[in-house]
Amino acid sequence: MRLGITTVDSGDFKDPKIARRLLSSLSAIPEDKIFLMNQVHSDKVAIAEEGTSLPKADALVIGNLKPPYACVVRVADCMPLFIISDGVLVGCVHAGWRPLAGGIIQNTVKLTGSSIHIYAGPHICYKCFEVGEEVQEFFPPASRIGNRISLFNALEKISESVGIKASDVLLLKAKGYCSIENPAYFSHRGGDNKRMAAFAFQY
Ligand SMILES: [Zn+2]
Repeated sequence: MRLGITTVDSGDFKDPKIARRLLSSLSAIPEDKIFLMNQVHSDKVAIAEEGTSLPKADALVIGNLKPPYACVVRVADCMPLFIISDGVLVGCVHAGWRPLAGGIIQNTVKLTGSSIHIYAGPHICYKCFEVGEEVQEFFPPASRIGNRISLFNALEKISESVGIKASDVLLLKAKGYCSIENPAYFSHRGGDNKRMAAFAFQY
């Protein structure tokens, strides 16, 4: 398996057709096995199967598919998650604050079970994520510092509440994971309209 994220240098992955084509050529996985979502900041989980095109959802769980396949989350500040069970990629999540607050993790774990590892990719860090009270109230106190929230910390707390140990929730820390602070990443809050592709290739 290979996990990664594109950077500013590799261009804009906002268009799903372009994203699928580029990631297929990068991975040598057929385009129809590159799964993306029409991400709508919801709590909806879709099943990725043969013929799935672009479900309106913020989490994908792999159905009855044999490798190779890939899961892709398009991001610029939101947190991309990849879910691994017994060393195999079983899904991905677009974890912005709305999906997290709405129960996307709980809904996903209903399908994957809780014997999983969750890998979180680059996203906006708590220092850069100031939010209003209407957002703060959705988050566990431990994931708030003043008017700032930590998506990763919220993920850890929510995961614990559904039976996943905090030690199985991992942050992929390359150099500087914050999408605002690291100039190699696109940032929606930083004014970018472009998106990166966080991807997991299962061979
Ligand atoms: Zn930051």
